[in-house]
Amino acid sequence: MKALALLHASQLFTLSGPKRARAGKELSELGIIRGGGLLIRDGKIDIVGPSDEIEKKARDAEIVDLGGRVVLPGFVDAHTHLVFAGNRLDDFERRARGETYEQIAKAGGGIWSTVQKTRTASEHELLELAKKHAGWFLKCGTTTIEAKSGYGLTLEDELKILRVMQRLNEGTPLEVVPTFLGAHAVPRDTSPDKYVDLVINEMLPRVAKEKLAEFCDVFCERGYFDLEQSRKILTAAKMLRLKLRGHVDQLSNSGGAKLMAELGATTADHLEKTDEQGIAALKKTNVQPVLLPGSVYALGSTSYPRAREMIDAGLAIVLATDFNPGSSPTPSIPMVLSLACTQMKMSPAEAVTATTINPAYSLNRGDEIASLEFGKLANIAVFDCEDYRELAYWFGVPRTHSVYVKGERVYSTQK
Ligand SMILES: [Zn+2]
Repeated sequence: MKALALLHASQLFTLSGPKRARAGKELSELGIIRGGGLLIRDGKIDIVGPSDEIEKKARDAEIVDLGGRVVLPGFVDAHTHLVFAGNRLDDFERRARGETYEQIAKAGGGIWSTVQKTRTASEHELLELAKKHAGWFLKCGTTTIEAKSGYGLTLEDELKILRVMQRLNEGTPLEVVPTFLGAHAVPRDTSPDKYVDLVINEMLPRVAKEKLAEFCDVFCERGYFDLEQSRKILTAAKMLRLKLRGHVDQLSNSGGAKLMAELGATTADHLEKTDEQGIAALKKTNVQPVLLPGSVYALGSTSYPRAREMIDAGLAIVLATDFNPGSSPTPSIPMVLSLACTQMKMSPAEAVTATTINPAYSLNRGDEIASLEFGKLANIAVFDCEDYRELAYWFGVPRTHSVYVKGERVYSTQK
């Protein structure tokens, strides 16, 4: 593989710093090099620095002039529901007419409609759809995502979804980190307790045995899985050496953040209704909060999580899309940057850290990706702007110029 030199960025952000997720003031330290460039060898970053220095050491390399654009590590999206069939356009229109979640579910919409379509779809059909969506992520500058199962809700259908993720990983440049979310909802044809037993006794052992997931997640919410059921499932997952994530405190403050702290989870996700006590509990065991403003926005709510309080408390905050057909149909991290700055009062720099190095650590990949430093994978996003703050500022305009994964250009607006 020929060496590659990317030269003449207006701003290149290394995100170099301590080898762990960043908190407090560290969130604002992006490691800027004005007029920077980098040299890539064998898919990894060899040298980062001022462009004239790189040019001197890049005699054997293919040279790409970035023409004064912004360079960042590829975004890392730590919370998505990538694999599903169909869409929820009818729900979307009903919500616009003012119908409630219950009315929409009664009319045949909601998560159950996606479960039915996903069960009916073949593994091949799901893979083709997932490939299409993977292309959208790359186009937005994202090079690694976490993806959850959870639209199957039977042993075979959950395994089918996880296998799609595995095949996607082998067949596309987007890196997918798999999470088992069998406890996404209780299927209509069974009781909650019976289903919890199925998840613990049949699904989890198979998922672990076939090494189809790195994490286990639970939707801990009234009407889904209560605290006790969530604790049972996550404890069983932990015994099988899966790491833990959790949908908690989204619609009500049920003590989900505290549960994730108690279990030593890697992340606690959503947290729209988490209070000071929940925040303090997360801090005690260094659970990373994953905030999902796209779902608050798309549901037409204004109840954003308390990002500023979490930052002040010293939490290593993460932002993600929550890409899914129901509550957050967006793969766009730039859209999330905009929401973080306008609705949650995060600075553009904090938002960039929360979508690069911090999510990488939350996925156990902080040592391999998401900063532009010697030895790391050359996963890089180039944007059509001179100042990185434009990414959050010009919302709704795609700014991606080109994307590299392991030193290979996988997306470009140019030929
Ligand atoms: Zn989610």
